[in-house]
Amino acid sequence: MADVRRPFRQNLYDLDLPTLQALLESWGEAPYRARQLWEWLYIHLADRFEQMSNLPRSLREKLAAETAIGAPERIASQLSRSGETRKDLLRLADGETIEVVLMHYDQRHTACISSQAGCPLGCRFCATGQSGFQRDLSAGEIVAQALHVARQLQATGKRLSNVVMMGMGEPLLNYDAALTAIRRLIDPQGFRLGQRHVTLSTAGIVPGIDRLADEGLQITLAVSLHAATDDLRDQLLPINRRYPLDALFAACYRYCARGGRRISFEWALIDGVNDSPQQAQALAARLQGITAHVNLIPLNPTPAYPGQPSSPQAVQAFSAVLERLHVPHTVRTRRGIEIEAGCGQLRRQSPRPGAPLQKD
Ligand code: SAH
Ligand code: SF4
Repeated sequence: MADVRRPFRQNLYDLDLPTLQALLESWGEAPYRARQLWEWLYIHLADRFEQMSNLPRSLREKLAAETAIGAPERIASQLSRSGETRKDLLRLADGETIEVVLMHYDQRHTACISSQAGCPLGCRFCATGQSGFQRDLSAGEIVAQALHVARQLQATGKRLSNVVMMGMGEPLLNYDAALTAIRRLIDPQGFRLGQRHVTLSTAGIVPGIDRLADEGLQITLAVSLHAATDDLRDQLLPINRRYPLDALFAACYRYCARGGRRISFEWALIDGVNDSPQQAQALAARLQGITAHVNLIPLNPTPAYPGQPSSPQAVQAFSAVLERLHVPHTVRTRRGIEIEAGCGQLRRQSPRPGAPLQKD
């Protein structure tokens, strides 16, 4: 339970190492204590102060009184039948809820994490967009989701290998927190995730893409495209009216030119909406001059949008056009469809605190 008596205890995941050092020094602690605490948080994944056996009891008590390890509480879970996808609904300190997903694929263990509670962009086909926007997450609340998943894996001797910021929310509208969280996760003295194993997905916030290009990071940028003509994209992703395709692709081009890595373009195939050969051709034309990889995934149906996933034949035909036009692409299967793996769907379904929890 969130501690209602002390709702404003400082979340340790929101502090960088120098700030933590300054805090502990202000308590009269030796400088190396902050590093020890850091390792408990990000290497050993401790979620209770009692675990921190090399810290003096007095310090652990002070930490427990003044701060919190912002590990969110799990209030509901869904496990796919095959066991390869698990989705948890987490409750934050103020009662807000977010989703985090763990996917097992080959030797990879990937966490899909959220950057906002809800999303202000209102894409028609997206369960998160359909449920509105609540608030930005703090950097610590974003980091905590990856640690939550890593802790689950740790229990079975596995290590988190990938993080995709493809859960709820638009990370480039919560830029500072999203980037602070990514830097925390790739910290070589902390969580040590490989930069190349981190993906940030955006619906196309042009100023954010330009800012990201200047960060000097080796993470993967994914752009949720879903349509290659403005009239169609305007309907599916309202943000396209603010940043239309010419502006979006100009930003992608600048991103590549600045040494950014290959961009992934996400395309949810919707039956009779964006799965025509003409759209595939328009997509190929748009990608000229950009180092790109297209991910095709049949739509996950959501309650407030009538669209259905494209038929296997339409997926194949779309893929064949891209093949012919030499556009690198992958047809992804929908994973864990039976647990409604599409982002925002578990939250819509069971928003109540204390909703029944499926046992592991
Ligand atoms: N806001 C960011 C990141 C979160 S959404 C973005 O839009 O990129 C993560 C991905 O899920 C996006 O590519 C989004 O378009 C896709 N998505 C959302 N709802 C979906 C659905 N019902 N079926 C398939 N993909 C969906
Ligand atoms: Fe927001 Fe991404 Fe969903 Fe669009 S697809 S509403 S940007 S979370």
